[in-house]
Amino acid sequence: MPSPVSAARQILTNLHEVMASRNNAQSKLNQVVDLIGESLDSEVCSIYLLREGMLELFATRGLNQDAVHVTRLAIGEGLVGSLAEHVETLNLAEAAAHPDFSYRPETGEDKFHSFAGVPIVRMERAVGVLAVQHVEPRRYEEVEIEALQTVAMVLSELIANAGLIDDADAVAASPMLTDPRQLSGLSLVKGLATGHAVFHQPRITIEHVMAEDTEAERARVLSAFDKMREQIETMSNQAEFGVGGEHDEVLETYKMFAYDEGWTRRINEAIDSGLTAEAAIERVQQRTRMRMRQIDDPLLADRMHDLEDLANRLLRIVSGQVSTAARLGLRDDTILIARNLGPAELLEYDRRRLKGVILEEGSLTSHVVIVARAMGVPVLGRIRGLRGMIREGDLILVDGAQGIANIRPTQSVVEAFEARSARSRERQARYAALRDVEPFTKDGERITLMINAGLRDDVPMLNLTGADGIGLFRTEFQFLVSAALPQRDRQTRLYRDVLDTAGDKPVVFRTVDVGGDKSLPYLRGDEENGGDENPAMGWRALRLALEREGLMKAQARALLEASAGRTLNVMFPMVSEPWEFDAAKAVFDAQLAFLRSRRKVLPEQIRYGVMLEVPALAEMLDVLAPKLSFVSIGTNDLTQFLFAADRSNPKLAERYDWLNPSILRFIRRVVRTLAGQQIDITVCGEMGGRPLEALALTGIGIRRLSITPASVGPHKAMFRKIDTRELAEQMEQWLNEPVSDLRGALTEWADEREIEWE
Ligand code: PEP
Ligand code: MG
Repeated sequence: MPSPVSAARQILTNLHEVMASRNNAQSKLNQVVDLIGESLDSEVCSIYLLREGMLELFATRGLNQDAVHVTRLAIGEGLVGSLAEHVETLNLAEAAAHPDFSYRPETGEDKFHSFAGVPIVRMERAVGVLAVQHVEPRRYEEVEIEALQTVAMVLSELIANAGLIDDADAVAASPMLTDPRQLSGLSLVKGLATGHAVFHQPRITIEHVMAEDTEAERARVLSAFDKMREQIETMSNQAEFGVGGEHDEVLETYKMFAYDEGWTRRINEAIDSGLTAEAAIERVQQRTRMRMRQIDDPLLADRMHDLEDLANRLLRIVSGQVSTAARLGLRDDTILIARNLGPAELLEYDRRRLKGVILEEGSLTSHVVIVARAMGVPVLGRIRGLRGMIREGDLILVDGAQGIANIRPTQSVVEAFEARSARSRERQARYAALRDVEPFTKDGERITLMINAGLRDDVPMLNLTGADGIGLFRTEFQFLVSAALPQRDRQTRLYRDVLDTAGDKPVVFRTVDVGGDKSLPYLRGDEENGGDENPAMGWRALRLALEREGLMKAQARALLEASAGRTLNVMFPMVSEPWEFDAAKAVFDAQLAFLRSRRKVLPEQIRYGVMLEVPALAEMLDVLAPKLSFVSIGTNDLTQFLFAADRSNPKLAERYDWLNPSILRFIRRVVRTLAGQQIDITVCGEMGGRPLEALALTGIGIRRLSITPASVGPHKAMFRKIDTRELAEQMEQWLNEPVSDLRGALTEWADEREIEWE
């Protein structure tokens, strides 16, 4: 008995001969069924191909020849139709016992008990089925199934080359990919968008299945493995998950698979059997998919997902198709589809063409979402299996408000959506009309509404929204979009431009906050930071900046020079202990002294502040307060530390509500600690941009918010309807004797008062 590999190789060699012959496609198919029937010692071997949306028997050995081109099955009909529909393999000892079994008398198949079938796949869709049947009820061996899968790959190449099927036909026959669908996910950035699907990582089509030179294929796969491992090592050394901003757990799984000997061995065996590197990777992947389908365990399903990702990465490397859609030319109305993205990856996209983003993962405060919010691009997240339900170019309606995406919508859905979009535009126009209206509450309290920004293009939003200033300018965005550390003069230019555009309105510059999910490929810290297994709590922000003295000095000088003759508001991120503030300020003092010695024009005034993100600092605020002009509460980080819940971990994305007594009591305590001192307290995390959360914050005494520009108008409208004293009393009551559903209670409170808070 030959080894499975040499048996597979023999089949492929024979197939090669068949394919290379000058016979027409039909006679090649006839030869293939004979060949496979003999090799697997199977009484029946049949090939069904998709024609006009039906699976037609094209060739058979063992069934009645009269049935050829007569027997036709719909997708989903019978065993053949069902495995084509689900693109899965079936291996049954007793075919008739399967619920999908349907008997076709013209074929004479009633005497055959066992059945095994594999889909013939093109562009991830079944375009046909290869099936074997046997009189005796027996299950086929795994190696036999693998041989069938290999043959199916070769057939896919043959039928494409021979023009036996049309790719469009394949897609048309797959309801998963053709019918309208509504997917619901988590609303990450509100807004409505209409556009067409573009995959962040375009799919790979395998052109050649059979290898000309096995050794060359082996070398290709080896070097692709090396490259992939290198990439993964780099990601983990940067303590960042380059492609996705995902978390450590996934990275660990990636590593485990990347070094998994079983995986490499199986790919090598597939190459030994005569496949190209691409086909071998795909073959092994099919086998894994098949096995995983049989296991009903969500944890394993996640792992499967990771392995799919890694296999795709390997395929991209081996086929040299490594670019993302951002670099391949983008259509004008792109709805970007990805598992996850890093903020730098998103920034590579042209924001005029990017209309919406749908992610399989994602969480409200991950930086990619913050960037999208700043770009004004609606984002939906947490849609599992997303990439299997959408085709490149599909029309998609993204409803970021309700967390819904309509894929391939019907005309009536499109019309309803357009009507909603029109209403939303009207609402926007109403908000825009509030541009010059100051945000006073019903009882005459002035709320300061500022915007968060990070790029030059964000600054005009200040005038468009009529906001009071920029409460958080994330200076690291310039670092994220640059291929190398931005030189000091480039930093100065940006800060000066921002101040010029802002005019009289204040701008609060936050010194670089890199690390965490905002890592820079050119700024490595792995040796010093000990690997950072938990980057959000690791060597990031001020911790990193204080040790990269050159970086901090250059930025301090750039900020001081850009603010010559005006007010500089500067704040430091992630301050955990008072001495860190002192050390950071000392860097500014030294640069100031230097400029003074050079008789340069200095800022008229410098106001220093800290971001309150690390809970420990709250305990020391009274000590630090005399040195501060302002404190800005970064609720994104603060809440992740308060709850010990990674802000970019999709599994925790919905777990803790911001309308939570713990968070609100914590912030209330900070407000009380600083009461009576001349210190501005602002909330600049994403929380403040959400209506009910903003209400709650106002209710505990916050009067300054720095929010996403899109929320300024709605907030203005909302605040006009509020009596802060009444709200404060109510919040006091809810926080002193916490209600179980604060969100529900606040919603009811707002609705009763007809406060518009959408
Ligand atoms: C925050 O942590 O709330 C914050 C505003 O900073 P960033 O989101 O940039 O970490
Ligand atoms: Mg932060």
